[in-house]
Amino acid sequence: MSRCPRCAGELRFRERRGMLELFVCSDCGFEQWTHATPPPPTPGPVALVRVVVKWLAPPSATEIVALRQLAPELADLPAGTLLKRLREAPEYEIGMFMPEKAEEIISHGKRLGLVLEMR
Ligand SMILES: [Zn+2]
Repeated sequence: MSRCPRCAGELRFRERRGMLELFVCSDCGFEQWTHATPPPPTPGPVALVRVVVKWLAPPSATEIVALRQLAPELADLPAGTLLKRLREAPEYEIGMFMPEKAEEIISHGKRLGLVLEMR
């Protein structure tokens, strides 16, 4: 809340003209025009990207260990079940992420020796 520069009373909004707003002191009637603060830009819809791990051949044990590090939800699955599931599909979707996070996951995955793709 703004204060009157003359008597330190409360400045109250009276009117707006274009980008200017008039505030008037409720105690002494002092008038002050100020530039209206533009509303913050509304963020556009956030585009999430899908991150998938692709298998060029049926995944090896090493690849499965690596995948488990990227996809914690797979960590609890018994190896046999996991292997069966992964061999049925040519790729595994890690999830949908903010672009920055997706880049992070992909570079992590690459260090682990996986082939990842962003969609
Ligand atoms: Zn005043």
